[in-house]
Amino acid sequence: MNLKPKPGILDITPYVGGRAEAPDGAPAVKLSSNESALGPSPLAVAAYEEACRDLSFYPDGNARILRDALAELHHLDPDRIVCGNGSDELLSLLARIYASAGDEVVFTEHAFLVYRIAALANSAVPVAVPETDLRADVDRILASITPRTRMVYLANPNNPTGSCLSGAEVRQLHAGLPPSVLLVIDAAYEEYVQRKDYEAGDVLVTQFDNVVMTRTFSKIYGLAGLRVGWAFCPASVADALNRVRGPFNVSVPAQRAAVAALRDREHVARSIAHNETWKGWLIRSIRTSTLRVDDSEGNFVLVHFPPGAHDAKAADAFLTARGYILRPVANYGLPHCLRLTIGSEDANRGVAATIADFMRQKQ
Ligand SMILES: *Cc1c(COP(=O)(O)O)cnc(C)c1O
Repeated sequence: MNLKPKPGILDITPYVGGRAEAPDGAPAVKLSSNESALGPSPLAVAAYEEACRDLSFYPDGNARILRDALAELHHLDPDRIVCGNGSDELLSLLARIYASAGDEVVFTEHAFLVYRIAALANSAVPVAVPETDLRADVDRILASITPRTRMVYLANPNNPTGSCLSGAEVRQLHAGLPPSVLLVIDAAYEEYVQRKDYEAGDVLVTQFDNVVMTRTFSKIYGLAGLRVGWAFCPASVADALNRVRGPFNVSVPAQRAAVAALRDREHVARSIAHNETWKGWLIRSIRTSTLRVDDSEGNFVLVHFPPGAHDAKAADAFLTARGYILRPVANYGLPHCLRLTIGSEDANRGVAATIADFMRQKQ
């Protein structure tokens, strides 16, 4: 065959989302994709339904209403905000803009898989830097920088580990990078973070022209199905993104529902409170079953299973057979773990009881 994809494309392992149902198609509780336990604001749903009347019209390609609402809420310059079809689109476009064939794109060992895909899709070289205790290590990241490095992706907090760097650590990372390297801070879980020393990255973006922060409506706002994300950028990066993105990359219903979701601060507060209560409860409960569960700054926890009869594979099969779908994370280099999204009260109680049953079971 003469038709050949660019170098790197066939090295991509396609991204596989969390399963939604048990293999036999039986209804199941989906705790595999870090979706919101409470779902979207009713105001967002109403705005979406209302938008059905205008489906014959193209969206505003500049997503003006959404950028203005984001700028107002977060006190940012709307001209430096670029909206995307999920933050995944923006993360990929940044690699398309800044990475050429043979350039190096750095991320950490257990980082979000989209970064590797973005690098390979542009024939760049993915560089996975070892973590320390399942946490990004600033010194190790800086030690991996070479003259070929163009970008560093940092998920903060990281998925699937739930670990997080302090604002001071992120600033230290940035300070050690050459000005020609773009630091992309993916703050998809920002709203869930409780640590007082955390900084999302927007202040760094206002101070330096080689830092971008990406955010999403897929997590706390419960709009994963609509596909809306945004990036806060230096002016030159916003300009480049606006040249390469699809001209109408955020649909009419997506823009309107996202604006309505932003305005419902009570719903956001409820979602944060639910997450805090049940994340703490799940961690304590699963630790009672003698399993290691790491602290997490997101809406999910990483559960470690021992080798042998009670390993992660057996746990996944046991839980799936009982209607609880978690996320195996072997493809993240974590074959002994399952990632569990914080769900509704019923889901949390049910999955904790089922994990306890699994650990009591003799095999
Ligand atoms: C869920 C998630 C996103 C969000 O992706 P969208 O394309 O906005 O749905 C981005 N980064 C990380 C680390 C995530 O876990």
